[in-house]
Formats: sequence, structure tokens, C-alpha cells
Amino acid sequence: MANGKAHERINLIFLAVGIVISVALIKNNSTFEGLFIIVGYIIGTFFIGPDLDLRSRPFKRWGWFRFIWVPYQTFKHRSIWTHGYVIGDVIRYAYLSIWYIILLLVLSLVLRTSIGELLNTSLIFIEEHKTIFFSIFVGNVLSSAAHTLTDRTTSAFKKFF
Ligand SMILES: [Zn+2]
Repeated sequence: MANGKAHERINLIFLAVGIVISVALIKNNSTFEGLFIIVGYIIGTFFIGPDLDLRSRPFKRWGWFRFIWVPYQTFKHRSIWTHGYVIGDVIRYAYLSIWYIILLLVLSLVLRTSIGELLNTSLIFIEEHKTIFFSIFVGNVLSSAAHTLTDRTTSAFKKFF
């Protein structure tokens, strides 16, 4: 198993290769979205990655907020639910959405407004910026895939020798 630091370095190498390939292939004007794919990839590498299922470097980076990932760690380390391609990311974002709704609930009590209104405002914001959000998600999926690929390759390598 690659350690956290190695994971981050390998992920950044994948990113560099990805940027070079993208620059070579992209002919139309999609640089703006491309930028957010990179943002999503970096977020995925350092903050929202498969290894949040244990006390990893990304987990520790959450600082005061790391507690939100503690229930998530009931998933077995490297199970399909945390390390599966795409499914792991879908679950992490669904999981974060639950915390977001809890945050809105608290805000609604503090601001004495309805949670429905806050939820509506959030959804409108996401709808208005959906290309950006989607690009960030795609970048995050790519980063998690690079992570899982590295995990699988290193374990296969170790098994072989
Ligand atoms: Zn891992």
C-alpha cells in the first residue's frame, strides 16, 4: 500500500500528465471548465479522497472539522464504497450533502429562517453554477481513480514479489 505522501505525489504526476494531454487534445474554448477540473482534482487529492476511510493525511487536513468523517470511517478501509471508481465519489458527496443539510438546519435556527428557504437558495446557486460544480466533481473523480489505481497497482506488485 502506498503511503499518504506517496499517494499525493503520484496523484500530482497523473495531474501533470493529464494537463499535458488535455492541452494537446483540446482545440475548442473549454479552458474555463478545465480549470475547475484541476481544482476538483487538487481538492480530491488533498481533502476529499478515498483514504478518508482511515486517519489519513486528507482526514487530518480537515482540522477542527475532521469529526464529520468519523462516522464515514465505519466503512471498511479500501472497501468498494470508499475506493470504488465513481461510486466512492458519489457516496462521499452524498455523505457531505447530509452534513450540509445539518449545517443548514443549524443556520435556520440561528437566523430564524426556514430550512426550505436556505435549501432553495443553495439549489439555485448550484443550478446557476452547475458547470463549475460538475467540473469540480469530475476532477475529484479523476483524482480518486488515480488513487485507487495506485492502491491496486502497489498491492498487486507486492503480492507478486
Ligand atoms: Zn487508499
